[in-house]
Amino acid sequence: MAETVDVVVIGMGPGGEEVAGRLAEAGLAVVGVDRRLLGGECPYYGCIPSKMIIRGSNALAEGRRASILAGHAAVEPDFAPVAKRIRDEATDNWDDKVAVDRFEAKGGRFIRGHGRLTGPGSVTVTVRGTGERIELAARRAVVLNTGTDPAVPPIPGLAGSPYWTNRDILTVEKAPESLIVLGGGAIGCELAQAFARFGTRVSVVGSAPRLLNYEEPESGALIEAAFAEDGIEVHNNANVTSVSYGDGFTLNFDGGEVEAQHLLVATGRRTTLDQLGLDTIGLDPKARALDPDEHLRVAEGVWAVGDITGKGAFTHMSMYQATIAIRDILGEPGHGAEYHAVPRVTFTDPEVGSVGITEAQARDRGYEVETKKFNFSVLAKANIVGEDGIIKVVAEKGGGPVLGVHMIRPHVTELVAEASLIYNWEATAGDLAALIHPHPTLSEALGEVFLSLAGKPLHSM
Ligand SMILES: Cc1cc2nc3c(=O)[nH]c(=O)nc-3n(C[C@H](O)[C@H](O)[C@H](O)COP(=O)(O)OP(=O)(O)OC[C@H]3O[C@@H](n4cnc5c(N)ncnc54)[C@H](O)[C@@H]3O)c2cc1C
Repeated sequence: MAETVDVVVIGMGPGGEEVAGRLAEAGLAVVGVDRRLLGGECPYYGCIPSKMIIRGSNALAEGRRASILAGHAAVEPDFAPVAKRIRDEATDNWDDKVAVDRFEAKGGRFIRGHGRLTGPGSVTVTVRGTGERIELAARRAVVLNTGTDPAVPPIPGLAGSPYWTNRDILTVEKAPESLIVLGGGAIGCELAQAFARFGTRVSVVGSAPRLLNYEEPESGALIEAAFAEDGIEVHNNANVTSVSYGDGFTLNFDGGEVEAQHLLVATGRRTTLDQLGLDTIGLDPKARALDPDEHLRVAEGVWAVGDITGKGAFTHMSMYQATIAIRDILGEPGHGAEYHAVPRVTFTDPEVGSVGITEAQARDRGYEVETKKFNFSVLAKANIVGEDGIIKVVAEKGGGPVLGVHMIRPHVTELVAEASLIYNWEATAGDLAALIHPHPTLSEALGEVFLSLAGKPLHSM
């Protein structure tokens, strides 16, 4: 006999946790189900531990620049404080008790197990550890937030080897002596550089023509220059043919091979929709992503948020969608989801922050395009060792709307929110240029690039 509740949330990543917690606070009977840790990838194996490593690695880089800026500093990397911070401050040793208590204090009930739809409004949970089956009937909503697993390509020799994914490398106690990073996207680049600065000998092998290939070419080029300074070997356009593991890893690709003690597979993410019983509600279990409507509904009484919607694999996307789904489930009016201004952030050094489309994407979509670039080094504040970079704005020719804002420089991820205003506020370049940007701050660069786009004279710096 199924137990009737108001809402079942399957997968408690950032968006699922938000939906479940807020609906429980609203007085609904909510069951949250997660087969691993309440909170999902971000706090335990993603954003937070990776940024703790990056924080440490940037401190090392700053220390190494001290001799140019401020005198002598001897820098000796030690991964132990980072591992301790990840264990104690970020993940509670990969224990979600605090998150479970927080959810239960809001009135929710948490079940650790695998959730699966068995029909409209029906969910079966197989409890982790005991295998017990709990049947749930959701009166009001089922919300799916099952996220992604690391995608592992079918390279001969890889499957049987002890390769790492993000879930392994973010739990290490020591920086490895050497590391191959397979994949030149955001996760691969962030971790490659962070470990290189802790003394790991790193090679990055990617199949794309450049690092961070979905960003502007200028961003990939500046990251490659930074990687060269960090002593990272980069192989782009690599067709990887095999992996072998003996004393360490050897990765073979057309025209070369690299060797290292460890191999990190960072070749993207894959959903696990085939494990969700989607066919029982008329959806395709073989789909790569779900395609929700603007209120995040994917079927009658079923909502989906987060990475499984394929709208941008970011915690901020999961949270944005969660807010809209919560409103819809509670029957409150509000705007539907829009995806034209999704901020993208990569926490390499220099950072990459962007919103909208690239110049090449704009041309492919048939726009007549105008671009403006502004070099941060012109700014008084930015003329500092190790802190150069550019802003590139892509707009429709002849005073048309801004289509993309692309920034690369340390700390630019903090400027992305202002860049995204231009979309959400429907502002023109002239409107943004007219804002007062405080001096000396990086935000002045946005003011200057919009002045230039509006055809007005730049300030003398
Ligand atoms: C190394 C790394 C760094 C990252 N850095 C950033 C960053 O800096 N900024 C950023 O915005 N994003 C970052 N991300 C992405 C971010 O972690 C995800 O976008 C974010 O976690 C949102 O995912 P989600 O809400 O879809 O769910 P997830 O966090 O993927 O969680 C899904 C949950 O569902 C559970 N689950 C799956 N199937 C079932 C089932 N059938 N039954 C029960 N439970 C199930 C899983 O156990 C998991 O806990 C990073 C990711 C990685 C891997």
